[in-house]
Amino acid sequence: MSPSAFISHCQKLLGQAYVLLDDQDKAPYLSDWRNRYQGKALAILLPNTTTQVAEIVKACNQAKISIVPQGGNTSMCGAATPNDSGQQVVMNLKRMQTIRGIDASNQTIVVEAGCILQTVQEAAKAQGFLFPLSLGAQGSCQIGGNLATNAGGTNVLRYGNARELCLGLEVVTAQGEIMQGLRSLRKDNTGFDLRDLYIGSEGCLGIITAAVFKLYPLPTAQWTALVAVPDIPSTIQLLNLFQKRTAALLTGFEMMSKDSLDLTAKHFPQMKNPLSNDPAYTVLVELSDHESEEHARNLMESVLESAFESGLATDAVIASNLSQAQSFWTMREHITMAQAQEGANLKHDISLPISSLHAFIEETDGILRQHFSGVRLINFGHLGDGNLHYNVAPPVGTNPKEFNSSHEQVIHDVVYTQVEKHHGSISAEHGIGQLKLPDLEAHRGSVALQLMRSLKHALDPNNILNPGKVISE
Ligand SMILES: Cc1cc2nc3c(=O)[nH]c(=O)nc-3n(C[C@H](O)[C@H](O)[C@H](O)COP(=O)(O)OP(=O)(O)OC[C@H]3O[C@@H](n4cnc5c(N)ncnc54)[C@H](O)[C@@H]3O)c2cc1C
Repeated sequence: MSPSAFISHCQKLLGQAYVLLDDQDKAPYLSDWRNRYQGKALAILLPNTTTQVAEIVKACNQAKISIVPQGGNTSMCGAATPNDSGQQVVMNLKRMQTIRGIDASNQTIVVEAGCILQTVQEAAKAQGFLFPLSLGAQGSCQIGGNLATNAGGTNVLRYGNARELCLGLEVVTAQGEIMQGLRSLRKDNTGFDLRDLYIGSEGCLGIITAAVFKLYPLPTAQWTALVAVPDIPSTIQLLNLFQKRTAALLTGFEMMSKDSLDLTAKHFPQMKNPLSNDPAYTVLVELSDHESEEHARNLMESVLESAFESGLATDAVIASNLSQAQSFWTMREHITMAQAQEGANLKHDISLPISSLHAFIEETDGILRQHFSGVRLINFGHLGDGNLHYNVAPPVGTNPKEFNSSHEQVIHDVVYTQVEKHHGSISAEHGIGQLKLPDLEAHRGSVALQLMRSLKHALDPNNILNPGKVISE
């Protein structure tokens, strides 16, 4: 099929309005959230049903036209941006937004892949349930993208990643067949776990069109506090103290370095850290309780009291109402945006065994500061999961683009070698996309890489699904 015959076929399937060909219409789908990558596309396709997705994929497979699946386009690693050949199509699922149902007795929800994450949270809440997946991009990222990246976010400590929340998937294969796997079972040992294969596969193995998720009871009380902590060992001891005393009630434990909050206050002055004396580290702790407001508040106060007595905390403020609690979270979520406003910086979304975090930070900070005097280290993260956003910004007054182009590879190598030394992961949350493809080759190990290539070849022999992402041919 020629490209023009393919376009006519798509127009017949979807309707002309949903096959975008005009440069201006295509533009928003062709660059990534960080503005790092700029691609081209034959067309942007906006299907509305699983059958339409399947028919388009079938046509692409026959014509050997590759597809870049796209959700909210919030990827941090260029995973949803096409290459610059102009021969690929972008398939954005934003029109597939139906919430197919909530089963209250089974505590599950079935949603289409194009649903915005926040819409799913709100739909669950309206029925008295908590859908716990929560992250900074939740107003624009889509469920399909969350699953394809196995998104984490702020509630992983208690509820797990997207993978742990998902019970079943509907997927269109690279051949355009529909795998009906919308099973809402908590126990299902019937052969290989195909669901787990597609979760986290970044659009390279199949197109997710719908999913079943677990729901949880809404907590009756939530208490949030900001705690000033002198150093990383104290931060980890504070985490352990909360885990020991509050167990499953601990739903958030976020660490923010002084540099990261200084940057947030610079770009969003209304979000100044309310703690006095600019602490080296600020921890955001959240407890969620099903008993009573009083029970949760007493518990928070009692653990903080112990933390003060043992010198783990030097200052703390407990949010007095919901809007203050929200402002603490907003401050945490604005770190990423403050970095974007400051200019290009080198991001490392890594994870480490919690017991290795201190050694990693101390050693890596030391190496980088020795080689790049004045470099700013913007560290924050979901510490309760061992997830660190270890970001490197150039010294004040240095042109970020020039600094990055001269030093990017050396800095990545230093950080990822340190990660490997401490048995961590070079991508905790954001995935591989095109940004980290060479780093995965360097750090994942040859046997694992070969198995990944074999899987890709078995499921997508014509390499039409998101080629050039995650793993090279
Ligand atoms: C401000 C901000 C904060 C963030 N915070 C977090 C965080 O705390 N935790 C975290 O894990 N991530 C975070 N992210 C990154 C993150 O991966 C996502 O925001 C989200 O999970 C991606 O969803 P999306 O719909 O935007 O996917 P996109 O960016 O559109 O796509 C991401 C990948 O998924 C694939 N894909 C998309 N839809 C489908 C589908 N239906 N079927 C198959 N493949 C598909 C794409 O091809 C691509 O490989 C953040 C991003 C931003 C901008």
